Amino acid sequence: MGVRDDAEAIAPELVRLRRDIHREPEIGLHLPSTQGKVLTALEGLPLEISVGTALSSVTAVLRGGGAGALGGDALGGDAKGPVVLLRGDMDALPVAERTGLDYASQTEGVMHACGHDLHVAMLAGAARLLAARQRDLPGTVVFMFQPGEEGHAGARHMIAEGVLDAAGQRPAAAYALHVASADWPAGVISTRPGPMLAAAEVLAVTVHGHGGHGSEPYHAADPIPAACEMVTALQTLVTRKFDVFDPVVITVGSFHAGTTDNVIPDDATFLATVRSFSPGARDQVRESALALVGGIAGGHGLTVSAEFRDGYPVTVNDEAETRFAARVAADLLGEERCVPQLNPMTGAEDFSFVLEQVPGAFLMLGACPPGADPATAPNNHAPDAVFDDSVLAAGAALYAELALQRLAAAVP
Ligand SMILES: [Zn+2]
Ligand SMILES: [Zn+2]
Repeated sequence: MGVRDDAEAIAPELVRLRRDIHREPEIGLHLPSTQGKVLTALEGLPLEISVGTALSSVTAVLRGGGAGALGGDALGGDAKGPVVLLRGDMDALPVAERTGLDYASQTEGVMHACGHDLHVAMLAGAARLLAARQRDLPGTVVFMFQPGEEGHAGARHMIAEGVLDAAGQRPAAAYALHVASADWPAGVISTRPGPMLAAAEVLAVTVHGHGGHGSEPYHAADPIPAACEMVTALQTLVTRKFDVFDPVVITVGSFHAGTTDNVIPDDATFLATVRSFSPGARDQVRESALALVGGIAGGHGLTVSAEFRDGYPVTVNDEAETRFAARVAADLLGEERCVPQLNPMTGAEDFSFVLEQVPGAFLMLGACPPGADPATAPNNHAPDAVFDDSVLAAGAALYAELALQRLAAAVP
């Protein structure tokens, strides 16, 4: 039987695992119960398993050709074949679920609203499918079960703890799937070469003045008008300094200063999210935004503390790996179920840290429930977002097939 049929055969188990995880969502880097479920799902498979220290990650290594049991000689000499990494993130969000599903979250205020519960089930399914083909596997597969995608840079922590060297050699390629509760019908794959998701960072600015009486601003140093100028000047910066085809988004989402009408405060503070789609634009916006707020403060005789807080880099899909992955998906699932992604998405992903070091591809997988309109269905992160279980077998099969095909291909 092919991977697709085998995946359908284990679909009920994948649904069960996914719903178990959905019922008990966990946030951040420490997901002990989710980690336990992953370890149970992998039990009995011929995997080298290690768990994280700084986070509750699970790294599982499957060595093909019986290489693990035979000291790496099964493929002849030292040739163990290439390594492919498959990643699934595990964490939930601080969202109060309103789906009304019978397997809805039992933890108040926490929900798998980004579908990472499906990623865990699909990746565990792929481990099962590939383990059954271990003897014929011309290389090694690393399964990266990752906590803390939602703002905690879990991928960066796992890289620091050695996930990219877990097999003893660097992966030749890395792939991640991400489900979507809207935008695409269930089972449709979408990806694009080049930038796939934005870089996202926080720009934190505090303008320092000198407080005083609101009736005598000339005896004080008022930080508020200068901070307001910065907010509008940042929008001008976006339109005057950046290529319209390599755009930048700056949104000031928080602005705080003062206590009452007739007191000039010492400080004014604002926070902005800054999104960009190329490493060049990311570097440029960092430099020019800091120079701009510094210049405005200086022009008014004020000082400013401004910094870009560590965010996620642009998720850049490798050209050849993305072409390869799209072809594998089309062969496996049908040409009509693979659609090109025209523009990058404005969301961000910490799989970007993996793709900075390993060529690979990030693919979206539609999981909009049948009967719902992908154009209007509640999107990822919404309290009523529903991700359809029917895509689990296809997702597991695609993870497995990507590894199988990529290990067999000398070049993608
Ligand atoms: Zn998310
Ligand atoms: Zn996500």
